[in-house]
Amino acid sequence: MELTEQQHAAALEYASLSAQIRRNRAAAQQKERVARLQELAEDHRTLAAQAKDVRAEIESHQKEARAAGAQAADGRTKAESMESKLNAGVGLTSRDLVALQADIESVRAAVGQAEDRELQALESAESAEAQLEQLRRRAEEIASEGKAEGQRRQEEAARLDGEHAQLVEQIQAKLSELPAGAASIIRSSGIGVLAAGACGACGAALSGVQADAVRNAKRTWAFQCEDCESLVVQA
Ligand SMILES: [Zn+2]
Repeated sequence: MELTEQQHAAALEYASLSAQIRRNRAAAQQKERVARLQELAEDHRTLAAQAKDVRAEIESHQKEARAAGAQAADGRTKAESMESKLNAGVGLTSRDLVALQADIESVRAAVGQAEDRELQALESAESAEAQLEQLRRRAEEIASEGKAEGQRRQEEAARLDGEHAQLVEQIQAKLSELPAGAASIIRSSGIGVLAAGACGACGAALSGVQADAVRNAKRTWAFQCEDCESLVVQA
């Protein structure tokens, strides 16, 4: 069909706006940002699971420290009572005294070992607490990055939606500048710009007859693609 210069220009602008709308909708999916947000959420879950393990570890070290501490205290009480008995010396033979002395030494040695275990458990708990603090800080960083990224996603979505609304308004205006027949084809099948002897909408090469018709026609002549039925306009 023959278009006027103005209609031909409107058809080309329609095709360009249509491509812009496709790009806008692809961009609106924000694939990279959504993937990053999923990655951050996954990292946050992993850190939470690690923190749970470390908290359990801290509790176990603390429990161990309490048990060792209680054991040491019991031992000290026992040793003190034995030492009183030794110092009083009432009714004890020299053999009893030697045996008691040896028992006291053995209890004192056990107290020393329990104190070492208590100290070690407390140190382990402290180092696990430092680890927990690091995990907590990392989780906070990730949460704040996720929040910022989510904010950017919303802003970008709003910007792209605004742009989309404008493009839709513009493309509808272009459609109203076209003859009813052309507009109807575009509405039902779309539009393509002829490129290297092929339909710009579906990529199908023109038939020999169509190629001949294009060669003999003016630049403003438009036709329907035999494959996808789009309106094909010449650039
Ligand atoms: Zn086509």
